[in-house]
Amino acid sequence: MKVDGDFVMSINGEAVTTEHTQPVYNPATRSVFARVPDASREQLDQTVGAARVAFKTWSATSAEERQAALESYADLIAAHAEDLVALLTREQGKPRAGSEWEVFGSVDWLRAVASQRLPDEVIEDTDDRRVVTRFTPVGVVGAIVPWNFPILLAIWKIAPALMSGCTVILKPSPYTPLCDLKLAELAQQAFPPGVVNALSGGDDLGIWMTTHPDINKIAFTGSTETGRHVMKSASETIKRITLELGGNDPAIVLPDVDAKALAPQLFWAAFQNNAQFCNATKRLYIHEDVYDEVRDALVDFIAQEVVVGDGAEADTHLGPIQNSMQYGKVQAYFADCHVNGYTFAVGGDIDETAAGWFVPVSLVDNPPEDSRIVREEPFGPILPLLRWSDEADVIARANDTIYGLGASVWGKDQAALQRIGSQLEAGTVWLNEVHQYSPFQAFGGHKQSGLGCENSLHGLMEYTNWQTITMNKSAA
Ligand code: NAD
Repeated sequence: MKVDGDFVMSINGEAVTTEHTQPVYNPATRSVFARVPDASREQLDQTVGAARVAFKTWSATSAEERQAALESYADLIAAHAEDLVALLTREQGKPRAGSEWEVFGSVDWLRAVASQRLPDEVIEDTDDRRVVTRFTPVGVVGAIVPWNFPILLAIWKIAPALMSGCTVILKPSPYTPLCDLKLAELAQQAFPPGVVNALSGGDDLGIWMTTHPDINKIAFTGSTETGRHVMKSASETIKRITLELGGNDPAIVLPDVDAKALAPQLFWAAFQNNAQFCNATKRLYIHEDVYDEVRDALVDFIAQEVVVGDGAEADTHLGPIQNSMQYGKVQAYFADCHVNGYTFAVGGDIDETAAGWFVPVSLVDNPPEDSRIVREEPFGPILPLLRWSDEADVIARANDTIYGLGASVWGKDQAALQRIGSQLEAGTVWLNEVHQYSPFQAFGGHKQSGLGCENSLHGLMEYTNWQTITMNKSAA
């Protein structure tokens, strides 16, 4: 299979194109380098029909058969890893190290999820009665993914959906469809026709999927705003939904830290994937005793260690903003900081004449708590640093948001880490580390950061219906 061209949709095991196509840009150059099909509503209907037919036989396979198929899929991705890494960097903009982490992480994820099982739960088994709860696959799953981690977040849905016995229709973001179309094309070698399908298209395709009467579940990752639309659309047919949405993660730095030693970790907590990361630290609360030291250590680290550029270049640490829409949003946050007279400790000025959608790494020095840069999710490399002095007050400030995805606390006093961490309203709280994920660890958002979870047996369960079967043994 050619990875760097011939981009097609996968419908019922067939490679499908369309007359009308959509452009795909390299964000490091702002130039179109590929085109992808633009699915019609009729093609969606056809795909849903094929996925429904395939569900009948796929859902009847044993867990061991499904495990073997998932493992062969992992082998195929591993065999094409080098090409996928290059393609991911080209369409998403992220540097090679980030692309490698995503591609090889996806291979590991597939293998781990393949080993997971949801055994029947025997609730009662006496001479008179037997009561068993089992987990049956929900049916056809629509998997809708964003543009920041197109491969990994697709696999987070494909793996548990297939393992639980469901069939899948993958819809990539229109900004990053290429790797996802190739993932689906590869899947045709590992699964029967109709089990894994992929359609490319615009946001309309997402709306058609979320309202389609024959799709049973939507597994969605994207913004909170779109998540609200998905929830509303899904209500028409009471679809199952998993929503992984936006975040505004706080990080709290205690007064006992070694500023210089901690600076690299705090930097990557906020700027990994060029801060286009749901779980990026988006508010950095630093105790007043070490505020100046930590700020200055971050500024030094950025000046000495961080290279922003084309992800395809070997020495690049951070790539461009992924697309023009997001670039415009990030520009607006910079403009808002300038209009309101906030001080930048570093960065602050975007060179709009640059070849790609590049934005300098920027730190905003203690802006007001009610500023847009603190309240909202910029999803770009601009981070507010905020002073704190009172523990109860900083916890209240950290929790004062509609979001509740992740949070972290940093310091030497382990009792304080535990005490503060346990009061934070977030799906994942990291203490002296950040961005540690696992296929065996539940991941999801509190409040408006999401509904349900991904990963672990809890995540697998989200692709199933509970069915309780009771039998009265003494009757008849
Ligand atoms: P987005 O919401 O704009 O788009 C996500 C997907 O939804 C895309 O495939 C898009 O085409 C589709 N879509 C758009 N409108 C739709 C509609 N009305 N109905 C159905 N589908 C529709 O998000 P994005 O800009 O691609 O991604 C960035 C956002 O995703 C950020 O808010 C980020 O925090 C969030 N995110 C969350 C997680 C998580 O796990 N919680 C992970 C990554 C990103």
